[in-house]
Amino acid sequence: MKRILITGGAGFIGSHLCEKLINDNNDVICLDNFFTGSKDNIRHLIGNNKFELVRHDVINEYLAEVDQIYNLACPASPIHYQYNPIKTIKTSVMGIINMLGLAKRCKARILQASTSEVYGDPKIHPQVESYWGNVNPIGIRSCYDEGKRCAETLMMDYYRQNQVDIRIARIFNTYGPRMAVNDGRVVSNFIVQALKNEPITVYGDGSQTRAFCYVSDMVDALIKMMNNENNFIGPVNLGNPLEFSILDFAKLIIKLTNSKSKIVFEPLPSDDPVQREPNISLAKEKLNWEPKIDIEEGLRSTIEYFKNII
Ligand code: NAD
Ligand code: UDP
Repeated sequence: MKRILITGGAGFIGSHLCEKLINDNNDVICLDNFFTGSKDNIRHLIGNNKFELVRHDVINEYLAEVDQIYNLACPASPIHYQYNPIKTIKTSVMGIINMLGLAKRCKARILQASTSEVYGDPKIHPQVESYWGNVNPIGIRSCYDEGKRCAETLMMDYYRQNQVDIRIARIFNTYGPRMAVNDGRVVSNFIVQALKNEPITVYGDGSQTRAFCYVSDMVDALIKMMNNENNFIGPVNLGNPLEFSILDFAKLIIKLTNSKSKIVFEPLPSDDPVQREPNISLAKEKLNWEPKIDIEEGLRSTIEYFKNII
């Protein structure tokens, strides 16, 4: 049994991580400011004596005695992270400084939820961890991309300078139940639009690609990365390598929901990455992990979730 702090624990991935770690008999502190997360995501855990909920903003210092820290606090959807870009970059940078300070003081192990966005609009495909990326430092996605890149830098500097026990996980597009209905990401948008028989909004011509990982696979990967004892600090890509064009993905959602929705094309937001697919060889080799949930199976359970809440 460990004492585990999860920042962003009331969010989409964080809530599944809280649940799994409690089921594995750990004590969990879920810290969140509820910007994009919700009490509904963790309501079923409130009252469990292994679960503690703390309303707190990671840009401010937080003190506790813990063995492990998963730092997930940060809005992940472009619409939400662009809503207040200054706050987004503060959350990534000041948040990780505060959490690394806590890890140093407690001698806790800390895992940073980094992102495929550190590769920006990648020029090599599929993306490998050794690629340094192609990031616009002054664009509308920079508050997120550069914040996450700076957080990786701080992780490495605390590791080299203070021997903090770190793990860096680069998460690729993840989906599943508890994504927010209004969060603007492609999976939730398309499913909600399809269930309401409203137009499916494909940005650009839909030729841009993404690869989607089901949330239970991602949670398993994060826990394996945190607990690997080979001193493998990463960065490691975590995601499902099955790549779709966004247009094909829209057609798949229409098929799985039996929807009458028509596809409409809307302007492509600036700096939208053209092609994204993780190379997960390192995760397979070092963590003995690969995703298990088939895309149609994962989407069906996500569709059921949205059917129940909209
Ligand atoms: P989410 O928006 O559902 O969760 C983020 C959580 O962090 C929310 O509960 C939010 O309220 C909380 N939060 C935001 N700012 C905070 C602050 N200043 N202080 C305290 N809490 C704060 O997003 P998610 O999809 O669950 O993503 C979780 C993490 O994984 C994020 O760090 C994100 O960057 C990373 N990630 C996610 C994906 C994905 O596809 N879901 C991909 C790459 C990286
Ligand atoms: N997208 C889209 N329609 C939507 C939402 C998103 O075509 O209603 C596209 C978006 O332009 C991007 C991809 O789907 O190319 C994935 O977008 P998302 O916001 O989910 O995440 P990203 O991977 O861009 O961070």
